[in-house]
Amino acid sequence: MTQQPWLKEYPAEVPHSYDYPKHNLACFLEEAAAEYPNTIALEFLGKKITYDELLSQSRCFANALLDLGVRKGDRVAVMLPNCPQAVIAYFGILMTGGVVVMTNPLYVPRELEHQLADSGSRIIVTLDLLLNRVRQATAKRPLERIIVTSIRDYLPFPKNVLYGLKQKKDGTAVKVGYDEQVLSFGELLGRHPAVPVLAEVDAERELALVQYTGGTTGLAKGVMLTHYNLVANTIQTRLWCYRTDNGKERMLAALPFFHVFGLTVLLNLGVYAANTLVLLPRFEVDQVLKTIHKKKPTQFPGAPTMYIAIINHPEVRKYDFSSINFCISGAAPLPLYVQERFEELTGGKLIEGYGLTEASPVTHANNIWERRKNGSIGIPFPDTEARFVDPDTFEDVPIGQIGELAIRGPQVMQGYWNRPDETAKVLRDGWLLTGDLGKIDEEGYCYIVDRRKDVIIAGGYNVYPREVEEVLYEHPDIEEASVAGVPDPYRGETVKAFIVLRSGAARDKEALERWCREKLAAYKVPKQIEFRDTLPKTMSGKVLRRKLIEEEDGSSGGQ
Ligand code: AMP
Repeated sequence: MTQQPWLKEYPAEVPHSYDYPKHNLACFLEEAAAEYPNTIALEFLGKKITYDELLSQSRCFANALLDLGVRKGDRVAVMLPNCPQAVIAYFGILMTGGVVVMTNPLYVPRELEHQLADSGSRIIVTLDLLLNRVRQATAKRPLERIIVTSIRDYLPFPKNVLYGLKQKKDGTAVKVGYDEQVLSFGELLGRHPAVPVLAEVDAERELALVQYTGGTTGLAKGVMLTHYNLVANTIQTRLWCYRTDNGKERMLAALPFFHVFGLTVLLNLGVYAANTLVLLPRFEVDQVLKTIHKKKPTQFPGAPTMYIAIINHPEVRKYDFSSINFCISGAAPLPLYVQERFEELTGGKLIEGYGLTEASPVTHANNIWERRKNGSIGIPFPDTEARFVDPDTFEDVPIGQIGELAIRGPQVMQGYWNRPDETAKVLRDGWLLTGDLGKIDEEGYCYIVDRRKDVIIAGGYNVYPREVEEVLYEHPDIEEASVAGVPDPYRGETVKAFIVLRSGAARDKEALERWCREKLAAYKVPKQIEFRDTLPKTMSGKVLRRKLIEEEDGSSGGQ
């Protein structure tokens, strides 16, 4: 056991340790529905779904999946924005013992193809609007089934499209555009009974989620998270949110469920605590302001860019934020001025936390109601240990000195899916090497100062330079390319490409942007392109990204 100075900083209400149940993650929904059947679980486009209804619909979906042959351990992909179907699909898959593979709806076919093939997904649940993209991504390796749903199902108008069924004049329904492989989500729900399904799982070993996160080695890697990992992290987060009431809080669900932060702190925690989730399919600042004003959420977990967009909105003073009690910010550093302005605006608390996909994700947070330290990610969660180590020797560095943050706790992943070598690089004797550099103070507060891995965090999205570089290198006019994160007042960081062209090639930034747009999700496309004659390199020929960033800081004054 490491020294744990932070335990002295725990509020009286938060236990140092807890006995996390070893059961299927879907038990959270069963329990919420048993205790709070009539509490609203989801609000979406004016429609309300109670916990009882959510449980029934998830059971119908689980039965449909069983009928389609889904068995324990089978991977089922979900490519949906935040909407009721995403929640129903998620719990339905878990109930069967299937493994959820959350997929970003912004992915282009190439990225999706990799994720589906790498995870070995058998089925995908997606939107009608995304069907073409899914078909392109699965042209070479077809999936067994594509289950399609529509946001229109929840619009109050027009009523003629309901769950993918079109109503004929005589009132009967016909299927539209579906075949053997492509099935209608709504029709599957309608055809299957809500009889209970709950696969018994070996919670510490069996997976609930294969969650993709970019790798410095190129394409995304699947993080293996068990039922126990996610149950534990949800309860750890709930313990931290003391002085909040089960069955009463209203959470604004603007963080996407396909990212593990939104998945754990909104979906899993929301259902565990029987809160009401007010679903937003994407973050759009005007919509968020109106929703807060009208729907009166008490909690709003988010990424710093979300709070930045709100405080800088020209009409922010027109809206009422007084319902907001507290918010937890994660995914990237939270600037102090943003924290202060947002707290002033809402009268609530905004605290900074920290985590990573490999830890389900949350490992640290500041106290909500009592002491916190500015600029710090806070202290480790219950049952979580943190050390700062020399990355080469794995020895602790002295207090106050910079080392790599290593974490041990019940939320730490089992490893990377089908990548034992990558796993061995980051998991040592139960300790997860996070790739983040920082320090700890005498009282156990931790600070992140830099990233060892090269990930760029642009507006809360992770962009791995290597992946963008690979796309640039495929371009016939490019001789050399290096991609780095450069400071950006809105996104925190933005993607910049430094490019050396082949001789005679034209300096056409727009053409390069178009090239990237075809092959990468929009948030990965370089927002800045600089042409150079050469790139700085190490003796072994590796491009010195850090030097490029330093030169950038010097040349542009950090802009
Ligand atoms: P992801 O796996 O997508 O959740 O990204 C995890 C990474 O986000 C971490 O390894 C950190 O580099 C970064 N991160 C998360 N929270 C913070 C924070 N509060 N401050 C600085 N970096 C953070």
